[in-house]
Amino acid sequence: MFDLDLRSILKCVRCGACRSVCPVLEEIRWESAGPRGRMLVAHGISQGLDVDTDVLDSLNTCMTCGMCKQMCPAGANPISVIENTRRQLVMRGEMTEAQRKLNERIIQSGNSLGEMSDRHAWLGGYDGVIKETAGYVYFVGCLGAYRYPESLVATFDVLSHFDVTILPDEVCCGSPLNRTGFESAEMITHNAEQMHKVHAHTFITSCAGCHNTLIQNYSGEFEVMHVSEFLEQHLSELELKRLNLTVTYHDACHLGRCQGVFDAPRKVITAVCDLKEMKTNRENARCCGGGGGVRTGYPDLSLALAKKRLEEIPDGVDYLITSCPLCTKNLIEGGSDTDVIDLMELVRLAME
Ligand code: SF4
Ligand code: SF4
Repeated sequence: MFDLDLRSILKCVRCGACRSVCPVLEEIRWESAGPRGRMLVAHGISQGLDVDTDVLDSLNTCMTCGMCKQMCPAGANPISVIENTRRQLVMRGEMTEAQRKLNERIIQSGNSLGEMSDRHAWLGGYDGVIKETAGYVYFVGCLGAYRYPESLVATFDVLSHFDVTILPDEVCCGSPLNRTGFESAEMITHNAEQMHKVHAHTFITSCAGCHNTLIQNYSGEFEVMHVSEFLEQHLSELELKRLNLTVTYHDACHLGRCQGVFDAPRKVITAVCDLKEMKTNRENARCCGGGGGVRTGYPDLSLALAKKRLEEIPDGVDYLITSCPLCTKNLIEGGSDTDVIDLMELVRLAME
């Protein structure tokens, strides 16, 4: 029995205004690959439409980037309808192979990559400086822990000067599960228990997906800050030097459009060097192509969208700065000619 929220689905009056902003529709060019088409598919499912591969592809090629929700004149929320429909289908056992494998990986290993090695390996020489209790916890995230240790080291180099520690036994925040229709209650409970163990009141993240999920799915029990917001508050204490660099900045969808964090990363960047904006930026920034499970399920589509984003890099910049490891990964793998680095790596350059 489906528990689809028909009122939310019927908020879509099928005007098609969102068709002009969906990057996936622009790429695939089938109505079913855009927000209006997906709303129609969700409606069809609520009325008994058979679920075949085309239906699954329609729902699962959405990056949850939020462009359509932001501009819908009728106040519809395609992201929430799409995620809810994915969830209802998963509960009936109807999912793509990529969804099934992703879920299996996370359940077996506690991280989205299926890694069985030590999540804290990046810490290396830091062991002695981990505090048993602290007000703030740096929530590391799966992709950072296993793929971008240099960016975690840069982040912790700075944060360890403050009342910040890490969770003794962090697991995936639950974001990939939530985005692709699965339950993440066990992960959330495990991380929340660890927060209590270290007596922390605030999560600090350097991943847009973790940031969004810690806000949306952890019952508001803890404060959540992106690392750029934390640094913005402590800029005067960091003694940063000015770098002779010009950089550009990619707004991650789940940090910017979804949670409204636009100014803090820009304040940190302009404190250390010059900033030249990408062609689309802030609430109108194009997605890197990686979100919503698309990187895992539809890698060719994801990389095609990354290439489009890379075309928006202005001339004459030294680095493309990101604030999310998934964006970093997708933009690098999309073939960026400009070096892509995390915001915290830029900050560390200014501390040397
Ligand atoms: S989701 Fe909103 S903008 Fe898109 S077709 Fe429906 S009503 Fe129009
Ligand atoms: S959230 Fe983004 S990818 Fe998904 S339908 Fe809306 S505009 Fe398209």
